[in-house]
Amino acid sequence: MLREFRADLHIHTCLSPCADLDMTPSSIVKTACQRRLDIIAVTDHNSAENTAAARRAAEGTGLTVLAGMEITSSEEAHILAVFDSIEAIMKLQDIVYESLLPTEDIRPSSPFDTGGPGGFGEQVVVNEKDEVLGFSNRLLIGATGLPADSVVNTIHSLGGLAVASHVDREAFSIISQLGFIPGDLKFDALEMSARAGREKAGYLFENYSSFTWVSSSDAHYIKDIGRTATVFLIEEPTAAEMALAMKGVDGRGVKQGQP
Ligand SMILES: [Zn+2]
Ligand SMILES: [Zn+2]
Repeated sequence: MLREFRADLHIHTCLSPCADLDMTPSSIVKTACQRRLDIIAVTDHNSAENTAAARRAAEGTGLTVLAGMEITSSEEAHILAVFDSIEAIMKLQDIVYESLLPTEDIRPSSPFDTGGPGGFGEQVVVNEKDEVLGFSNRLLIGATGLPADSVVNTIHSLGGLAVASHVDREAFSIISQLGFIPGDLKFDALEMSARAGREKAGYLFENYSSFTWVSSSDAHYIKDIGRTATVFLIEEPTAAEMALAMKGVDGRGVKQGQP
Protein backbone atom coordinates (compact mmCIF):
# COMPACT_ATOMS: atom_id res chain seq x y z
CA MET A 1 0.00 0.00 0.00
CA LEU A 2 1.23 3.46 -0.90
CA ARG A 3 1.75 6.09 1.80
CA GLU A 4 3.51 9.42 2.14
CA PHE A 5 7.05 9.67 3.48
CA ARG A 6 8.78 13.02 4.15
CA ALA A 7 12.39 12.91 3.05
CA ASP A 8 15.40 15.21 3.32
CA LEU A 9 17.96 13.61 1.01
CA HIS A 10 20.86 16.03 1.43
CA ILE A 11 22.44 16.34 4.88
CA HIS A 12 26.13 16.80 5.69
CA THR A 13 27.80 15.49 8.85
CA CYS A 14 30.89 16.71 10.71
CA LEU A 15 32.91 14.73 8.16
CA SER A 16 32.33 17.47 5.58
CA PRO A 17 34.91 20.21 6.10
CA CYS A 18 32.28 22.92 5.55
CA ALA A 19 29.75 21.43 8.02
CA ASP A 20 29.36 22.34 11.67
CA LEU A 21 31.05 20.03 14.18
CA ASP A 22 27.66 19.65 15.92
CA MET A 23 26.46 17.67 12.88
CA THR A 24 27.08 14.31 14.51
CA PRO A 25 25.06 11.25 13.46
CA SER A 26 23.11 11.10 16.73
CA SER A 27 22.25 14.83 16.70
CA ILE A 28 21.18 14.66 13.07
CA VAL A 29 18.93 11.66 13.78
CA LYS A 30 17.41 13.29 16.87
CA THR A 31 16.66 16.51 14.98
CA ALA A 32 15.28 14.68 11.93
CA CYS A 33 12.84 12.79 14.20
CA GLN A 34 11.78 16.01 15.98
CA ARG A 35 11.09 17.60 12.58
CA ARG A 36 8.89 14.69 11.51
CA LEU A 37 11.09 13.45 8.72
CA ASP A 38 10.65 9.78 7.80
CA ILE A 39 13.73 9.44 5.61
CA ILE A 40 17.08 11.19 5.47
CA ALA A 41 20.21 10.64 3.41
CA VAL A 42 23.61 11.46 4.84
CA THR A 43 25.57 13.01 1.98
CA ASP A 44 29.08 14.12 2.83
CA HIS A 45 31.42 15.52 0.22
CA ASN A 46 33.21 12.67 -1.58
CA SER A 47 32.97 10.35 1.43
CA ALA A 48 30.51 8.06 3.21
CA GLU A 49 32.49 7.28 6.33
CA ASN A 50 29.79 8.51 8.75
CA THR A 51 26.87 6.85 6.97
CA ALA A 52 26.87 3.54 8.84
CA ALA A 53 27.09 5.39 12.18
CA ALA A 54 24.05 7.50 11.25
CA ARG A 55 22.10 4.38 10.34
CA ARG A 56 23.02 2.76 13.66
CA ALA A 57 22.05 5.96 15.51
CA ALA A 58 18.58 5.71 13.95
CA GLU A 59 17.94 2.11 15.01
CA GLY A 60 14.63 1.90 16.88
CA THR A 61 13.60 5.48 16.07
CA GLY A 62 11.50 4.78 12.97
CA LEU A 63 13.72 7.10 10.90
CA THR A 64 15.24 5.58 7.76
CA VAL A 65 18.81 6.65 7.01
CA LEU A 66 19.83 6.13 3.40
CA ALA A 67 23.47 5.81 2.41
CA GLY A 68 24.51 8.86 0.45
CA MET A 69 27.38 10.94 -0.81
CA GLU A 70 27.76 14.29 -2.62
CA ILE A 71 30.34 13.73 -5.32
CA THR A 72 32.20 16.60 -6.98
CA SER A 73 32.70 15.82 -10.66
CA SER A 74 35.82 16.89 -12.57
CA GLU A 75 33.76 19.86 -13.85
CA GLU A 76 33.09 20.82 -10.19
CA ALA A 77 29.41 19.90 -10.40
CA HIS A 78 27.91 18.40 -7.25
CA ILE A 79 25.99 15.15 -7.74
CA LEU A 80 24.14 13.29 -4.99
CA ALA A 81 24.29 9.51 -4.81
CA VAL A 82 21.63 7.77 -2.70
CA PHE A 83 21.63 4.06 -1.92
CA ASP A 84 19.85 1.57 0.29
CA SER A 85 23.01 -0.44 0.77
CA ILE A 86 25.99 0.62 2.87
CA GLU A 87 28.05 -1.95 0.95
CA ALA A 88 27.26 -0.21 -2.36
CA ILE A 89 28.12 3.26 -1.06
CA MET A 90 31.43 1.90 0.22
CA LYS A 91 32.21 0.56 -3.26
CA LEU A 92 31.42 4.00 -4.64
CA GLN A 93 33.64 5.55 -1.98
CA ASP A 94 36.56 3.36 -3.13
CA ILE A 95 36.11 4.65 -6.69
CA VAL A 96 35.82 8.26 -5.51
CA TYR A 97 38.86 8.02 -3.22
CA GLU A 98 40.96 6.68 -6.10
CA SER A 99 40.16 9.78 -8.10
CA LEU A 100 40.66 12.37 -5.34
CA LEU A 101 43.91 14.28 -4.94
CA PRO A 102 46.43 12.20 -3.01
CA THR A 103 47.00 13.48 0.51
CA GLU A 104 50.60 14.48 -0.20
CA ASP A 105 49.37 16.95 -2.82
CA ILE A 106 47.37 18.91 -0.29
CA ARG A 107 48.80 22.39 -0.04
CA PRO A 108 50.05 23.72 3.29
CA SER A 109 47.43 25.27 5.53
CA SER A 110 46.45 28.87 5.00
CA PRO A 111 46.75 31.62 7.62
CA PHE A 112 43.04 31.04 8.19
CA ASP A 113 43.69 27.43 9.08
CA THR A 114 40.65 25.81 10.62
CA GLY A 115 42.37 22.57 11.38
CA GLY A 116 41.69 20.28 8.45
CA PRO A 117 43.59 19.37 5.28
CA GLY A 118 44.46 22.25 2.97
CA GLY A 119 43.27 24.83 5.51
CA PHE A 120 39.66 23.67 5.33
CA GLY A 121 37.68 22.50 8.35
CA GLU A 122 38.17 19.34 10.35
CA GLN A 123 36.77 16.15 8.79
CA VAL A 124 35.66 14.07 11.74
CA VAL A 125 34.78 10.38 11.57
CA VAL A 126 32.52 9.45 14.49
CA ASN A 127 30.43 6.55 15.71
CA GLU A 128 26.75 6.50 16.63
CA LYS A 129 27.59 7.65 20.19
CA ASP A 130 29.42 10.75 18.89
CA GLU A 131 32.79 9.26 19.85
CA VAL A 132 35.58 10.46 17.56
CA LEU A 133 37.10 7.57 15.62
CA GLY A 134 39.52 9.65 13.56
CA PHE A 135 40.00 12.44 11.07
CA SER A 136 40.00 12.09 7.30
CA ASN A 137 43.11 13.62 5.76
CA ARG A 138 41.78 13.57 2.21
CA LEU A 139 40.88 16.81 0.47
CA LEU A 140 37.17 15.95 0.55
CA ILE A 141 36.08 19.41 -0.59
CA GLY A 142 38.07 19.03 -3.84
CA ALA A 143 36.96 17.81 -7.24
CA THR A 144 37.34 14.17 -8.24
CA GLY A 145 38.82 13.28 -11.61
CA LEU A 146 35.47 11.77 -12.65
CA PRO A 147 33.42 13.63 -15.30
CA ALA A 148 29.71 14.06 -14.53
CA ASP A 149 28.59 11.34 -16.97
CA SER A 150 30.97 8.88 -15.39
CA VAL A 151 29.69 9.78 -11.89
CA VAL A 152 26.07 9.22 -12.93
CA ASN A 153 26.85 5.96 -14.74
CA THR A 154 28.90 4.65 -11.82
CA ILE A 155 26.09 5.43 -9.34
CA HIS A 156 23.59 3.59 -11.57
CA SER A 157 25.89 0.61 -12.10
CA LEU A 158 26.03 0.19 -8.31
CA GLY A 159 22.23 0.45 -7.99
CA GLY A 160 21.87 3.98 -6.61
CA LEU A 161 19.96 7.14 -7.42
CA ALA A 162 21.78 10.08 -9.07
CA VAL A 163 20.40 13.53 -8.26
CA ALA A 164 21.85 16.80 -9.58
CA SER A 165 22.51 18.96 -6.48
CA HIS A 166 21.08 22.46 -6.02
CA VAL A 167 20.69 23.15 -9.74
CA ASP A 168 19.41 26.68 -8.99
CA ARG A 169 22.68 27.74 -7.34
CA GLU A 170 25.31 29.91 -9.02
CA ALA A 171 28.17 27.57 -8.14
CA PHE A 172 28.90 23.86 -8.07
CA SER A 173 25.71 22.88 -9.87
CA ILE A 174 25.56 21.00 -13.16
CA ILE A 175 23.99 24.05 -14.83
CA SER A 176 26.44 26.57 -13.35
CA GLN A 177 29.37 24.40 -14.48
CA LEU A 178 28.21 23.19 -17.92
CA GLY A 179 25.63 25.85 -18.79
CA PHE A 180 22.87 23.28 -19.27
CA ILE A 181 22.05 19.63 -18.58
CA PRO A 182 23.32 17.49 -21.46
CA GLY A 183 20.71 15.04 -22.74
CA ASP A 184 22.91 12.02 -22.10
CA LEU A 185 23.12 12.73 -18.37
CA LYS A 186 20.45 10.44 -16.94
CA PHE A 187 19.72 12.05 -13.60
CA ASP A 188 16.91 10.41 -11.65
CA ALA A 189 15.96 13.85 -10.31
CA LEU A 190 17.09 17.45 -10.05
CA GLU A 191 17.34 19.11 -6.66
CA MET A 192 16.06 22.60 -5.93
CA SER A 193 17.80 24.17 -2.97
CA ALA A 194 15.97 25.52 0.06
CA ARG A 195 16.78 29.12 -0.82
CA ALA A 196 15.75 29.02 -4.49
CA GLY A 197 14.30 32.33 -5.61
CA ARG A 198 10.81 32.10 -7.08
CA GLU A 199 11.82 33.61 -10.38
CA LYS A 200 14.81 31.34 -10.92
CA ALA A 201 12.87 28.30 -9.79
CA GLY A 202 10.09 29.06 -12.25
CA TYR A 203 12.54 29.45 -15.11
CA LEU A 204 14.31 26.20 -14.27
CA PHE A 205 11.10 24.26 -13.82
CA GLU A 206 10.01 25.43 -17.24
CA ASN A 207 13.24 24.45 -18.99
CA TYR A 208 13.66 21.14 -17.25
CA SER A 209 10.06 20.24 -16.53
CA SER A 210 10.51 16.74 -17.94
CA PHE A 211 12.73 15.89 -14.95
CA THR A 212 11.51 14.85 -11.54
CA TRP A 213 12.29 17.55 -8.96
CA VAL A 214 13.12 17.16 -5.29
CA SER A 215 13.78 19.71 -2.54
CA SER A 216 16.39 19.09 0.13
CA SER A 217 17.93 21.13 2.91
CA ASP A 218 21.66 20.68 2.09
CA ALA A 219 21.99 21.13 5.85
CA HIS A 220 25.44 21.96 7.19
CA TYR A 221 24.00 23.11 10.54
CA ILE A 222 21.48 21.43 12.85
CA LYS A 223 19.03 24.33 12.47
CA ASP A 224 18.76 23.66 8.73
CA ILE A 225 17.80 19.96 8.84
CA GLY A 226 14.40 19.53 7.20
CA ARG A 227 14.08 23.26 6.33
CA THR A 228 12.70 21.90 3.10
CA ALA A 229 11.75 18.35 2.22
CA THR A 230 10.20 16.17 -0.45
CA VAL A 231 7.16 13.95 0.04
CA PHE A 232 7.33 10.56 -1.67
CA LEU A 233 4.24 8.46 -2.25
CA ILE A 234 5.78 4.98 -1.98
CA GLU A 235 5.27 1.56 -0.42
CA GLU A 236 8.27 1.58 1.90
CA PRO A 237 11.07 3.99 2.76
CA THR A 238 13.78 2.78 0.40
CA ALA A 239 15.87 4.29 -2.39
CA ALA A 240 14.54 1.54 -4.68
CA GLU A 241 10.95 2.72 -4.04
CA MET A 242 12.03 6.34 -4.57
CA ALA A 243 13.49 5.37 -7.93
CA LEU A 244 10.07 4.00 -8.92
CA ALA A 245 8.37 7.15 -7.59
CA MET A 246 10.68 9.34 -9.67
CA LYS A 247 9.45 7.44 -12.72
CA GLY A 248 5.82 7.50 -11.54
CA VAL A 249 5.46 3.71 -11.56
CA ASP A 250 2.11 2.23 -10.43
CA GLY A 251 0.73 5.35 -8.78
CA ARG A 252 3.92 6.25 -6.92
CA GLY A 253 4.94 9.87 -7.06
CA VAL A 254 7.00 12.78 -5.77
CA LYS A 255 5.70 16.06 -4.42
CA GLN A 256 7.37 19.01 -2.83
CA GLY A 257 7.06 19.20 0.89
CA GLN A 258 6.87 22.16 3.24
CA PRO A 259 9.39 22.73 6.00
ZN1 LIG B 1 26.72 20.88 -3.01
ZN1 LIG C 1 25.74 19.58 -0.02
